[in-house]
Amino acid sequence: MTVFNGRQGCIDNALSRRGFLGSAGLACGGLVLPQRLRAEPPANDQSAERRVVRPFNRYSDLLETVEKRGHKLRVLGFAPDKSPIVGIKAGGDKKPAIFISAGSHSTEQAGVAAAVELIDKLETEHQVYVIPCRDPIGLNGYRYALNLSLGDEPEIESMEQMEELLRDKGEVLLDAGGKLLVLIGEYGYANHGLYRKVEKGAEFLEPLKGRRLWFPSRYDDVPGSGLFERAYTQVVTPDGEVLHINRFHDTSWAPVEVRCTRGLMAKIKPGLTFDLHEYGGDAFWFSARRQRTDEDESWERRMAAEAARAVAASGAKMAPDDYSPGSFFSKLQPGVFWLDPSQRGEGLNLADFAANEYGAAFTVETGMRQPFEHRVRTSMLTVQTAVRVFEERYR
Ligand SMILES: [Zn+2]
Repeated sequence: MTVFNGRQGCIDNALSRRGFLGSAGLACGGLVLPQRLRAEPPANDQSAERRVVRPFNRYSDLLETVEKRGHKLRVLGFAPDKSPIVGIKAGGDKKPAIFISAGSHSTEQAGVAAAVELIDKLETEHQVYVIPCRDPIGLNGYRYALNLSLGDEPEIESMEQMEELLRDKGEVLLDAGGKLLVLIGEYGYANHGLYRKVEKGAEFLEPLKGRRLWFPSRYDDVPGSGLFERAYTQVVTPDGEVLHINRFHDTSWAPVEVRCTRGLMAKIKPGLTFDLHEYGGDAFWFSARRQRTDEDESWERRMAAEAARAVAASGAKMAPDDYSPGSFFSKLQPGVFWLDPSQRGEGLNLADFAANEYGAAFTVETGMRQPFEHRVRTSMLTVQTAVRVFEERYR
């Protein structure tokens, strides 16, 4: 079985997914959660410890959940559909601040749920700022994205129906080799992702320069990322390269979602940044960033080592020794890789940018082939453990 065929995981390593894929749930049987997450609350307790964590259906559900828990939403800007992109302040008053973000790739919903949970469950005296969802439109799904150009959410139930609709309503820009791309209104709509699949500056991309396009999620066995449940946002640069929301942090031209994260970071100057992602496998790994000074880098290494140790001790399946997420990664230790953006190209993603400008930074990658709640807990545990080490540094 070609597990990855037509399925989109974390797009930072879209070209290099291979190896250790298995069925959802198989690797999770022996899961032992660490004490921090295992505490048994009273039977009728509805507090944070007992919450069942599920993917959010709609962005409004996420906002409502966070507000109901008593948190104030700070509007950082508005996505093209006028959805507010929000930040939430948690933690204490101590600096440097910690920054947590998720959801730039809309199919990676465990990161979003983990970011929301961490608002309550990251215990620290340091200031914590969370942008739980960097792509509200993406979270709302492909029918919703179509609604932005059609004025209504279409009743499509299959890829065939969707493609028929795109051909009917849109100006066809590309229809070859199984790839369909149309322009409707201000936006592009595709059947599959085009990132690294089409030539930079290709003529058919001309009408989409500086605009965005969406393609639908279509996992059949990943809760929260089933057919049409998410719209994966891709952005065509002014010079005709198809990228995505987790780029552009070092470019003056950037989509509004990126300007929101960049703007918040400029204000809080985070000493520690996490970007919570997922990829299409079943094991866990994450990436660290080289730091500006030896001292900073020794702390980056220490946080990475402790977080990897804690996740392994929790029983989660770690990436095997011979795994490599791609040519621009080098191994720091089992399950942890340095990411070198200069080898990758495409400018800086959020964690690359955080490391260049502010301090420690990690991109967390949980495996979508695990049960949803397990992925959320693993993501949270990584952050919680690294933060313990971060606190030591500033004690
Ligand atoms: Zn991702």
